[in-house]
Amino acid sequence: MRITVLPRDDRPSGWYANLPDAPPARRLDGRQSADWVVVGAGFAGLAAARRLGELLPDKRIVLIEALRAGLGASGRNSGFIIDLPHNFDSKDMENRELNDRVTRLNRAAIDWLAGLVEKHQIQCQWRKRGKYQAAATPAGERANRPFAAWLAKMGLEHEVLGRDAVAARLGTAHFRQAVYTPNGILMQPAALVRGLAGSMPPNVDVFEESPVTDAEFGTPSRLTTPSGSITAPKIVLATNGFTDGWGFLRHRLIRIVACANLTGPLTDQQLATMGSDENWGVTPVDLGGATLRRTADNRILVRTYMRYGGNVRITATDHARARARGEASFRARWPQLGPPRFEHTWGGIVCLSRNHAPYWGELAPGVLAAVCCNGVGAAKCTIMGRAIAEWAAGVDSEIVRDMATLPKPDDHRLGPLIGAAVNLRLAWAQATAGAER
Ligand SMILES: Cc1cc2nc3c(=O)[nH]c(=O)nc-3n(C[C@H](O)[C@H](O)[C@H](O)COP(=O)(O)OP(=O)(O)OC[C@H]3O[C@@H](n4cnc5c(N)ncnc54)[C@H](O)[C@@H]3O)c2cc1C
Repeated sequence: MRITVLPRDDRPSGWYANLPDAPPARRLDGRQSADWVVVGAGFAGLAAARRLGELLPDKRIVLIEALRAGLGASGRNSGFIIDLPHNFDSKDMENRELNDRVTRLNRAAIDWLAGLVEKHQIQCQWRKRGKYQAAATPAGERANRPFAAWLAKMGLEHEVLGRDAVAARLGTAHFRQAVYTPNGILMQPAALVRGLAGSMPPNVDVFEESPVTDAEFGTPSRLTTPSGSITAPKIVLATNGFTDGWGFLRHRLIRIVACANLTGPLTDQQLATMGSDENWGVTPVDLGGATLRRTADNRILVRTYMRYGGNVRITATDHARARARGEASFRARWPQLGPPRFEHTWGGIVCLSRNHAPYWGELAPGVLAAVCCNGVGAAKCTIMGRAIAEWAAGVDSEIVRDMATLPKPDDHRLGPLIGAAVNLRLAWAQATAGAER
């Protein structure tokens, strides 16, 4: 069968553009065979391939990526690795057991990644800086209350900060209030992804610039790329928002384009007005709100614009809209800095499900998958990828047990109307977000 949805690099993210040039890609050439093929070198695929390599040292594991490692969504996000239930999870605040499980899984991902960053000396601006969930409007402040109450009830470390305290730390009086949680990670995502891909166990081969364009499933399955093909009895799809193009999970996955902007480094004069916290991340309380970061190298990231990602094409119009919205968000928060000097604007593909559940398991005999990040995949997809490898290798771990109890993606029930429905929802969220935007 022909794979109908293929990744494209619309343009490199600011994170990728600021990395040193990568050595030439090793592409899948000729006819090859392996014991396992993992497709997709995002957080899920990197974790699955690494863990399979660790658990099955006598087997050949192949990881295939359509682009370069770091060019997919895992390398072009906002760089938060969030330890707590976030956004959609936290709507169900009362489900203590589910939230405990999600927190345990996220923290296991962070611990594992932290160990790998340390062991392989991956230079990715890895910092335990937590995050501010900040509200600019009375409605936003109200929306933050259940989160703060939940943190208090669970005995989780946090601070609720008023306008002056936020201004003192972040250099902006824009926010009325913020809930700060200290245990998440901030990082440079393209550097982390490239570092993970470059430090695989010796029995894992990584092929880049090798889009799988055709697949025949069987025993073994055969995957074809423009310059080669590979057979393997076991395949793991770590293809997130592209998975329906393989004929699986139709009407269950919802593709979204999310865009971000990154400035050049702030000047010393600008930095003097920026508050006491030198490296921070702000997540919005509202779906239509802006995500913000001050990076370890003193750039400002603004993620604002989202739309339905039907055909995965990210266009010049997307970039122009993302930039205009990013500029407005920046000016509203830091008028003292003057107009933002955005050096990069880019988009990436995120995958959601109606009930905010990931897919983890066996899609067909010999075809496994760890997909559907629900917008916060740095932790979730890492642990999902690790869990699918452990499950496949017969390891009975707490991670596998926790993953096995999570729900699976529901049918979104909107058929071909999904694009219009999602765009309407996002446009409404962005139009009504007011100062959260
Ligand atoms: C602008 C933006 C900001 C975000 N901010 C955050 C954040 O701060 N924190 C967070 O946790 N999440 C964030 N996300 C979401 C996060 O990036 C994703 O959840 C995460 O990257 C998903 O990881 P993954 O491995 O499942 O998928 P991906 O990273 O999408 O990896 C899938 C890979 O499969 C490859 N692939 C697909 N089809 C094929 C094929 N046919 N052949 C070969 N390869 C193929 C793709 O090229 C891709 O590299 C953000 C996303 C965006 C776009």
